[in-house]
Amino acid sequence: MADKYLELVNSGFTKNLAKTLGLPRPSILRRYEPGAPLVPGPVLLLGGSPQAQNISDTLLGWGLDVRRHAVGEGKIGAIILLLDEVSTPGELSEPMLAAGHALRQLAPGGRVVSISRKALATDAPALTATRSGLQGSLRSLGRELRGGATANGVVLGERVDATAPSAIAAVRFLLSGRSAYVDGQFLEVDTTDGELPANFEKPLAGKVAVVTGAARGIGAAIAATLFRDGATVVVVDVPAAGDALAKVANQVAGTALQLDITRVDAGAVIIDHALARHGKLDIVVHNAGITRDKLLANMDAARWDSVIAVNIESQLRMNETFLGAELPGLRLVSLASTSGIAGNRGQTNYAASKAGVMGMVTASAQAFAASGGGINAVAPGFIETEMTAKIPVATRTVARMLMPSLMQGGLPLDVAEAIAFLASDAAGGINGQTLRVCGQSLVGA
Ligand code: NAD
Repeated sequence: MADKYLELVNSGFTKNLAKTLGLPRPSILRRYEPGAPLVPGPVLLLGGSPQAQNISDTLLGWGLDVRRHAVGEGKIGAIILLLDEVSTPGELSEPMLAAGHALRQLAPGGRVVSISRKALATDAPALTATRSGLQGSLRSLGRELRGGATANGVVLGERVDATAPSAIAAVRFLLSGRSAYVDGQFLEVDTTDGELPANFEKPLAGKVAVVTGAARGIGAAIAATLFRDGATVVVVDVPAAGDALAKVANQVAGTALQLDITRVDAGAVIIDHALARHGKLDIVVHNAGITRDKLLANMDAARWDSVIAVNIESQLRMNETFLGAELPGLRLVSLASTSGIAGNRGQTNYAASKAGVMGMVTASAQAFAASGGGINAVAPGFIETEMTAKIPVATRTVARMLMPSLMQGGLPLDVAEAIAFLASDAAGGINGQTLRVCGQSLVGA
């Protein structure tokens, strides 16, 4: 990671100095590297579910060292809490305390992953209290972890069990370095749809993907990540960004499409390009977005309307076109923001658009599922981009220290990894959801 402070507090003499002075020492996060182990040590599988043997077999199949009881000495790479069968709050005690005992052995970059069931308003109060309670507990556990470790969960829908393809794929994503900046989050698997890839290192092999706003920033990182994972990528951006766009297209051996996505025919232009140049369209990432911040009292129509036009109206219109074209299995991922969840001063327009994106994916899920596809959103928090690099170093460092447990911003790559996962066929049982990539913090743009 490029940041000087992070390097200094994690290496050699300056590491010891920072320790002596009691300076906060954010860890270098464990990020995905092709061929690297999935987790940094044995996996402790806790919980007495009937699915335990199947999950254990799956983990063994991935070459992991699986333990069903605390491992005397030495580090462990991950703790999996298989709690899909708990039904009273009292039943949480044993597995949670067992996880607690093992936490001191969790390796840097380790993972805690729960597998539980969805809390429904229609179930018995004790059952729903138990399932909701587990999520609250796990979020709190996440805030106790250090060393770049994270805690997240997979939540199963009513007729889905822990061995459903998307449940397995979500567990793998959360264990891996691909989820480095995802913390305190729950991925809901509502159906048994989805298909695990033949090769987990190339989960998008054979796919054709379009990424809007890909000339720079997060969009360029998304294009690079989809390409790394095996996809053929079409990068889209405004004509004014044509040179930068061409460079990105070259880097990902893809094609460039100069297009303002607010054009009424943008969806049709994208489909035409993808079909004419690559024969099909499997994935669309709605990444292009703008900010025009102002306090609402000083807001003018130009700022408000342009943000709404680019960030949400264009996506709604393009989605209508994509649905009309009945592209089989089309998977979409849209960029929301934690600003749309927590609110952000000066961003009433932007937050309207980003909360709008979250509403849009919820309401569009069924329509895309009808043709075998799906739509989800990713909500980034504080992401280190050229924009945040311009913040004075002291302010930036303090802002990071305020972030719970991970004590740092995320990278565009972290957002891209979540998008690549949701865009994959393995995530077929996950639909209409928003995954936060925010290091369990709600600070962001
Ligand atoms: P960026 O400004 O660096 O890049 C956005 C890209 O979108 C640019 O290349 C721009 O030319 C393109 N674009 C803008 N309007 C367009 C249009 N009408 N047609 C086609 N392309 C257009 O932004 P970024 O920081 O990389 O953010 C990418 C996405 O992530 C945005 O949707 C943003 O709202 C979201 N996001 C970013 C952060 C963050 O911390 N950077 C946090 C939360 C959400």
